[in-house]
Amino acid sequence: MSSIVAMISLGLLVGLGLVEFFWIRLVRRNGYPWADVAASIGIKIGRRLVKLATAGLVAPVYFWAWDHRLWQIPLKSALGWAAAFLLVEFAYYWQHRMHHEVRWMWAAHRTHHSTNWFNILATSRTSVTGLISGDWLFYLPLAWLGVHPLAIFLLIAINLTYQIWLHTELVPKLGPLEWVLNTPSHHRVHHAVNPRYLDTNYGGVLIVFDRLFGSFAEERADDPCRYGLVKPESSYNPFVIVFREYAAIARDLARAGSLRDIAGYMFGPPGWAPDGTGATSKRIRAGIDPAI
Ligand SMILES: [Zn+2]
Ligand SMILES: [Zn+2]
Repeated sequence: MSSIVAMISLGLLVGLGLVEFFWIRLVRRNGYPWADVAASIGIKIGRRLVKLATAGLVAPVYFWAWDHRLWQIPLKSALGWAAAFLLVEFAYYWQHRMHHEVRWMWAAHRTHHSTNWFNILATSRTSVTGLISGDWLFYLPLAWLGVHPLAIFLLIAINLTYQIWLHTELVPKLGPLEWVLNTPSHHRVHHAVNPRYLDTNYGGVLIVFDRLFGSFAEERADDPCRYGLVKPESSYNPFVIVFREYAAIARDLARAGSLRDIAGYMFGPPGWAPDGTGATSKRIRAGIDPAI
């Protein structure tokens, strides 16, 4: 089942990517950023290879948790699937939020935000190093609570496939759907570096957890989204893009003077500095550090 979703995902990526290409070239008559797209495809291939090499490492841990489950969510009923879906969405929200708030996780997720041009193929810039960043730990409690591991993997695949169409500037706001669903408008905000948009809209399929936990921001006509990173990525080399933040962490750790510094550089927010003057999202939003 997961491989069917993977095929649909690839089909959507290619199909919607082509629609976007023709729209940009023939309708808007703008240039197409080939180098940016080539880097995204390079990262996608890298992710595929890493997935093949590491397949089977995480699954046994999930099945171990499943064997020790507290309860079992019945997946023969629609209600059971709805509960499993909500639990996966909840776990995804917190995983994605930690991707942005904990530097060790940001080092992996930064790849997804590295393009300076927001487009369908940017979706393929997903974490290559998710195994070491600990992404999989967020869904593990669900197996223990009673969601079958295969259902978890399937629902994560559906969540990520859903998000492909969110990466475009071509779809406007969608009325009442914006209240409940994650939409292109909400996800444009998530990828923007305008101070008021930093660290917002973490949802996968749903936007309700952002509204619930105070991380929601609305796209505003008077503050058009500017995409990329607070420190923009200048390289199109997939290796540089994937490992740049890890290299920066290593440099910071080499000059760390205490255990507190080590913890801060690794698990503090991106931009953290021992003297408290690092340009974190919080300080940029508060206007202490310059807006980008
Ligand atoms: Zn993100
Ligand atoms: Zn995205």
